[in-house]
Amino acid sequence: MKMTDLPVVEGMIRLCTDGWQQGWHERNGGNVTYRLSEEETEAARQRLTHLPGAWMPLGESLPEVGGVWFLATGSGKYFRNVALDPEDALCLVEINEAGDSYRLRWGLKNGGRPTSELAAHLLNHSVRYMATGGACRVMYHAHPAHIVALTFLEELTDKTISRALWQSETEAPMVFPGGVGVVGCMVPGSMDLARASAEKMKEYDAVVWAHHGLFTSGPDYDTAFGLMHTVEKAAQVRVLVTNAGGAKQQISDSEIRAIAEGCGVQIREAFLEEGESGEELESLFEKWCRKLRITPQWDVKLELVRDPAWRKTGDFKIDPDDRKAILMLNVANPRQENMEEVIVHELMHIKLYPLDQVCESLIENSFEEDSKAYRFACQTFFEDLEVTVEELTKCFLLEGGRNKAFSYGRCAGRKSFDELYKGLKPIE
Ligand SMILES: [Zn+2]
Repeated sequence: MKMTDLPVVEGMIRLCTDGWQQGWHERNGGNVTYRLSEEETEAARQRLTHLPGAWMPLGESLPEVGGVWFLATGSGKYFRNVALDPEDALCLVEINEAGDSYRLRWGLKNGGRPTSELAAHLLNHSVRYMATGGACRVMYHAHPAHIVALTFLEELTDKTISRALWQSETEAPMVFPGGVGVVGCMVPGSMDLARASAEKMKEYDAVVWAHHGLFTSGPDYDTAFGLMHTVEKAAQVRVLVTNAGGAKQQISDSEIRAIAEGCGVQIREAFLEEGESGEELESLFEKWCRKLRITPQWDVKLELVRDPAWRKTGDFKIDPDDRKAILMLNVANPRQENMEEVIVHELMHIKLYPLDQVCESLIENSFEEDSKAYRFACQTFFEDLEVTVEELTKCFLLEGGRNKAFSYGRCAGRKSFDELYKGLKPIE
């Protein structure tokens, strides 16, 4: 059995060939590394034909990858040649237990070194290993032209580039709902670039290198290659459209949210604009009517209030006999509340309405109107009702909300602890 028959080696050969055919690897551009599992390492060990090479310093200390074996492309090797002679272009390296040196176990038969970015890859492997609970195995770097072009056209921030990509192709928010990280123009192959990427890789599985290329990761070759391909495709559409004179329309933020929701992924909400449009609120309203099973028992409709004199954020009108309700939302939203939270809160009131009625009539029938006991019972009941409704709202919002950030409007308006106690004499 030859080393090249191992699925991990075959997979890398195929990735290199596919990347070359996509036009992402001019000359010796690009590199890829694969972190072998224990079983894969054992299988590779059984196919070793040479004594190990000498230990070489990595130039970095990375104890997280100590003792691990990596398959890597060789420094200065051309991706287009990998399939022709994998044993010349690829190599298998073993990292020592301390994680500061490596030695060659297979490949580079005509001499050479692993990719000059080895330390950079290993640093990013460590980060992604932690971020994915050990699932990440592949680090892949390529020079797709359109993503590079995009870094000349858009502001170089994670949000702007991620959103530009999501807006350009419906597949983009499905494949990378977390967005992409962006690092500025840096010296290729430098440890500064490696560290800047690693910082981004704590959060993202893909990092755009301005004016240079893209770095992707994944649990297997297909995922890392597919991510490269999808980011590049979205960038290509963006650049094509820009070339053709600019977009007449694009995928809106509410459509991006709907796409993510449709395929059950969590979009990075912070990259989208606040969805205050009527269309967006309508879609949130319908979603929560379904989720909370308000419909079909109730007939409810949404009414958007644009009157700036109306001081409330949300309220409802209700006809319990006919089971009809109108939910009113203040779309002027002067307090910048999370409107999804407001919708869930108001619908929760409708949900609890029968119980609410029982308590109210219990109070009406047990206490003399306007007596102290009556006022106490009313106040206690309404306070507890609000607390319960808001508590349930938080639970549902965290579980199924598009925007999970709670509104702190009312809380922010409260007096601070110090203010409350100002003027009070300490107890002697
Ligand atoms: Zn490069």
